Amino acid sequence: MDTDWQLRSADGVQYFEYSPHPKLILAFCTRRGGVSHDPYESLNTSFAVGDDSRNVEENLARVRRALRLLTIQTVKQTHSDTVLPIAGGPVLTEMLTGDACITDQAGMGLGLKVADCLPVYLYAEDSGCIGIAHCGWRGTAAKLAEKTARELSRHFSVQLSNLRFALGPCICPNCYEVGDDVRAEFEKSFPVPDKFFSPVAGTAAVRHSPVAEYRLDIRAANRWLLMELGLLETRSIALCTFEDDRLCYSARRDKTTGRNLAVIALR
Ligand SMILES: [Zn+2]
Repeated sequence: MDTDWQLRSADGVQYFEYSPHPKLILAFCTRRGGVSHDPYESLNTSFAVGDDSRNVEENLARVRRALRLLTIQTVKQTHSDTVLPIAGGPVLTEMLTGDACITDQAGMGLGLKVADCLPVYLYAEDSGCIGIAHCGWRGTAAKLAEKTARELSRHFSVQLSNLRFALGPCICPNCYEVGDDVRAEFEKSFPVPDKFFSPVAGTAAVRHSPVAEYRLDIRAANRWLLMELGLLETRSIALCTFEDDRLCYSARRDKTTGRNLAVIALR
């Protein structure tokens, strides 16, 4: 079976879905189909951005219905490198702190709230286990995607070569300008950070910030990490969150705004 990401709609909720296996669903909810008002319009899934919590609850309920999942576990995200194994029943979002989740439990969706950061979807080839990792520049520099893959391998006794990955929408290098501080963090953990940084000066594209030195490609950095580890990439989605304000929230673009929900689940 070789499908691609499809834009779907269920009860007004618009989401991208990729289903590499009948038991497996990878989804990225757009900002369309929720009840939140400007500047969170409308399918905001984060309680931490100033939106009315009743609207967020309703939005999350709509996402569960659209994806036909009883549970989507989300956690308090702090740009850390903490990987959380999820088992048993769902717990309140704010009870768990971490930036990646793994599980082998069917019906337990794993959700990640993003606005420019890259959601990395991970799963075993035989759909025995899944994971999702929140990779902005901090998570990428901390090699969170690699750590999540290793935790999946260890926890569920699956070889790294039997794990697959797909990358969700995120801010693209043309829109993502960073300073020397970010590059310095990458130099600590990546042997060849030059692969992912290009100088802002001398490029034809519009410059967004006067203090930025580089354009950073977080998608390429995470792809490189996981391929070095022996994982196979299946289908990624090359949508830029900064550029697509119809479908995506972007923290860089809008400052105060909502969060899209990235979901992986076993049926
Ligand atoms: Zn872009």
